[in-house]
Amino acid sequence: MSQFNHSNMFLFYERILLFVKLNKKNIFLIVFLSTICLFPNLFYIFFGSSLSGNNTKKIIFFGISIIFFLIPFLIFKVRSSFLINGIFVLLAPLEIAQIYLNKETISPGFILLILQTSFYESYELLESIKLLIFAYLLVYLVYFFGVSQLPKKIDLFTKKRRLIVTSLCLLFLSSLYLYFFALNSKIVPDKKEVFMFANGSFLQKFEEIYPYDILYSINEGIKQYQTIKKTSADVEHFSFGAKQLVRTNEREIYVLVIGETARYANFSINNYTRITSPLLSKTTSLVSFRDVYSEGNETRTSLPILLTRATAKNFKLFTKEKSIIDAFDEAGFSTYWIANQSVGDTFIQRVVRKTRECFFVAKKNNSSDNFDEKLWIYLDKILAKKEKKQFIVIHTMGSHYRYNNRYPEAFNKFRPSSEGTFSYGVIDMQNKDKLINSYDNSILYTDYFLAKTIAKISHKKGVSSLVYISDHGENLFEKGRVLHGGIVPTISEVHVPFFVWTSERFNQLFPQKKTSIIENANKSITSSVIFYSLLDLANIDIRENKKQKSICSPLLHADSLRFALNQNEQVINMSK
Ligand SMILES: [Zn+2]
Repeated sequence: MSQFNHSNMFLFYERILLFVKLNKKNIFLIVFLSTICLFPNLFYIFFGSSLSGNNTKKIIFFGISIIFFLIPFLIFKVRSSFLINGIFVLLAPLEIAQIYLNKETISPGFILLILQTSFYESYELLESIKLLIFAYLLVYLVYFFGVSQLPKKIDLFTKKRRLIVTSLCLLFLSSLYLYFFALNSKIVPDKKEVFMFANGSFLQKFEEIYPYDILYSINEGIKQYQTIKKTSADVEHFSFGAKQLVRTNEREIYVLVIGETARYANFSINNYTRITSPLLSKTTSLVSFRDVYSEGNETRTSLPILLTRATAKNFKLFTKEKSIIDAFDEAGFSTYWIANQSVGDTFIQRVVRKTRECFFVAKKNNSSDNFDEKLWIYLDKILAKKEKKQFIVIHTMGSHYRYNNRYPEAFNKFRPSSEGTFSYGVIDMQNKDKLINSYDNSILYTDYFLAKTIAKISHKKGVSSLVYISDHGENLFEKGRVLHGGIVPTISEVHVPFFVWTSERFNQLFPQKKTSIIENANKSITSSVIFYSLLDLANIDIRENKKQKSICSPLLHADSLRFALNQNEQVINMSK
C-alpha cells in the first residue's frame, strides 16, 4: 500500500517538475501577473479592519478573491484572461488608497462622497491618490508588457482540470452559504427570516471583494445619487413656514445627538445596577426621560420618524415633507450634520443637502476604529465659528454590534469582554457574559461622549440645549433574543434612552420650559416628539404647532397606545 503511495507521489512531482521545466518562463510570468491582479486583495487581508485578527474571515475573503480572479481563466485562454483582469488593474489605485487611508474597501457610500464633491474626505483621497496613480501607471505598463510576452494559445487548465477547479469553486461557495445559514439559524428565531439573513450575509461577503466591490459600489452609488436627486426634487417646494418667535439676540446652539442601538435599561442613570453612566449622573440640568419608545426597531425606520413629522402610522409622510434641518434653516439657523455612519443612506443624504456643512465617516459599520469621539474635531470647528444661531445633528455609532469595536481600550471596564472582529456566530449563550460586558462598555463610552459633548457646548455660555435619543434598543438574551429589527419588536428594542440637557442661560430665560421638561420626564411618549420638541426648545413656530407633542410644554400628551414599525414596516401596537 505504502509502496503504491510513494510511486504515485513520485509520479505527481515528476509531472509538476516537467510542467515547470517546459513552462518556466510562463509560470514565472503567470505568478507575477497574478500577484499584480490580486495585490489589493492581499493588501486588504493584511490591513483591512473588518478582517483583523480573524483567520476564518481572511480565508473566506481570500477564497472569494481567488474565485473572482479565476473566472476568466475558466472560460478564456491565459492571455485573454490576463487582459480581462487587466481592466481592473486600472481601478486598483482607488482601492489601495481607500484601504491605506480608511482600512476599508470601496463602498457605495464612498462613491456617493465622490459624486457629491462638497465632501472633505473624497478630496483628501484624491489628493493622496495622485502619486499612487503615477506609480500604478508604471505597474500598468509592466503588466501589459508581461501579458504580451505570454503565448497566445495556451489554456491555464486542461479540460479535466477546468472541471475540477469549477467544482472546487462551487463547493467553496455552497459551503460558505451553508455556513451562513447555520450561523443565522442560531440567532434568528423565524425560519423564513433565516433564509433572508443568510442571503444577506452571503451577498455581503462579495460586496467587499476587489474588483467586484468597485463595480458594485459605482452601480449602487450612482443609483443612490439619483434617488437622492429625485427625492429632493419631490419635496423641493415644500415649506414649513418656520419662524423664530422669540429672538434672544444671544448665541443659541441646539444639538440633537442620535444614538445607535442604546437601550434604556443599561444606563445607571436609569437605575441599571452597573455604573455605566457616572458622568451623565453628575451632569447638572440633565433630565432623563423614563418612558420613551422608538417608533421603529431599526435605523432605517427610526430615523425618518426622528427627523420629520412622519410617525409609525403615517410613515410615508417623510417622502413628502422636508425635515427638522430645513425647519431650522427656514428660521434662520446655520445647520450642520456630523456623522459616524449612514453615508450611503438616501434619506439622510436628502436631509443633509440644506446643511451649511456636513461630515460623514466613509467607513462601514464593521469598522473597528471609528470611535464617536473622532467627530469632536468637526464639532469644535463648528462651535468655533462666530455664528449666532446653530443647529447641529450628531449621528453616532453608539452601541452598534460588535459592541467591543465601539470604544477605546480605556473603556474596557466590564470584563471579560469580546475581542477583535468576529462573525455573528459568536452570539450564543456561551458568550452571553462577554457580549453584555462589551455592550455595557459601549454604554460607558456613550456616557463619556455625551458628557464631554455637553461640556463643549456649555463652555460657549449661550442659550443652548442637547437632546439625545437612541434610534432603537437591543435584545440582550431576554427570552433568548438578540440584536434588533425583527418582525415582532420587543420592549428592549423600542424602550430608548432620552436625555435633555439645557444650559444655565436657557434655564434663566425659559424657566417655564425647564419646569415642563422636568415634569414631563415620567410621561409615556414616543420618538415622534423629537421633531416638535426641538422646534419648541428653539422657540420656532411652524404652521402646525403641536404643543401636545412638545416636551417643553405642560400640554405634552402621554400616549395610552404606542406603535412601532417592524422590519416589514408593519405597524405594531406596543401597548399590548
Ligand atoms: Zn440603528
